[in-house]
Amino acid sequence: MSAHILTLNAGSSSLKLGLFAVAAEPEALAEGQVDRIGDDARLWLHDAKGRELAARDLGEAGASHGAALEAALEVLEEHLPEARIAAVGHRVVHGGMDHDAPVRIDDAVLERLSALEPFAPLHQPHNLAGIRAARAAFPDAVQVACFDTAFHRNHPFVNDVFGLPREFYDRGVRRYGFHGLSYDYIAGELGRADADLHAGRVVVAHLGNGASLCGIVGGRSVASTMGFTALDGLPMGTRVGQLDPGVVLHLIEQEGMSAAEVSEMLYKRSGLLGLSGISNDMRELEASDDPRAAEAIAYFTFRIRREIGAMAAAMEGLDGIVFTGGIGENSARIRREVCAPLGWLGVTLDPAANDRSARRIDADGAVAVLVVPTDEERVIARATSAALTG
Ligand code: AMP
Repeated sequence: MSAHILTLNAGSSSLKLGLFAVAAEPEALAEGQVDRIGDDARLWLHDAKGRELAARDLGEAGASHGAALEAALEVLEEHLPEARIAAVGHRVVHGGMDHDAPVRIDDAVLERLSALEPFAPLHQPHNLAGIRAARAAFPDAVQVACFDTAFHRNHPFVNDVFGLPREFYDRGVRRYGFHGLSYDYIAGELGRADADLHAGRVVVAHLGNGASLCGIVGGRSVASTMGFTALDGLPMGTRVGQLDPGVVLHLIEQEGMSAAEVSEMLYKRSGLLGLSGISNDMRELEASDDPRAAEAIAYFTFRIRREIGAMAAAMEGLDGIVFTGGIGENSARIRREVCAPLGWLGVTLDPAANDRSARRIDADGAVAVLVVPTDEERVIARATSAALTG
């Protein structure tokens, strides 16, 4: 009987899972997701060809992350009874200062990761709840943590530090950067299919509900637009992006908002949603003829352009741009609005290739522009397979 890997990716109100057969390059067998945990949770499960195996409302059975995982495992067992879970790979948003690679989870690791909860209060507790639930469900399986911060852990000092008193750096107040599993996947794809680009200086734009840029030189991250938390950098679906810290002081001291109210606003009511007053969903904004939707999109694409310029400066040049994430992979309009004014940097688009979201969309190759779908689950599965087979 062959062995299988389960991947778990627990977000604030969702849980993604993947089932892979163990191999040097793991074979994807199924993927599933529970959405809206705690509020009319719904579950779906597809096979590797995208055919639906199950789709159902969970109701009370999806009231918490633990309950959602239990329900998802039951559905997995029902539809794929041959699965033998030898290892579980977990996405963990924060690995702190120490982890620059995936790690096998034991009690001591779990305790260290719990201590990082204040650094990522919206994500880390859910990630760790997933680990505890999976350890209980599969007590004999190897459990592996794969960190969103790990890919960025070897940034040069100037991209790792804030201009605060030094003691805060020593206590871990640093620029960690996130979306590292996605960037790791893209770097691997470039290594496989675009060796010259992989050896060069590339900006990867992960544009989804969360959004960031990563500067990659020779396959290694040298800069991220995200900082101490996943709030910094580009405006996102509901997150603010870069903000003068004086605004936060003003909101608390003059406007009388509590820290919790400011936090809720910056994470959940800002970005595309806050600026448009319409939606955090790019498809809805693109379809809207409300001028506020156009302004929110204009701010989004302007900040991406601005940060691409900053990344080019950090990398001392630019050989390629890679678009990924739900918006980056699918929106020809956003790619066009980002790239059109970047001619001064050598960026030109082939409009027809861009419209059909071809893999290569630049006009003349001076700066390569690519569209590459990301696959964070595969990165987790690879790391977990490697940990399992030693
Ligand atoms: P993600 O978080 O990577 O799943 O990306 C979600 C975002 O991608 C949402 O804002 C979607 O509206 C956006 N998106 C998905 N498909 C398209 C599309 N065809 N055009 C524009 N935006 C899209």
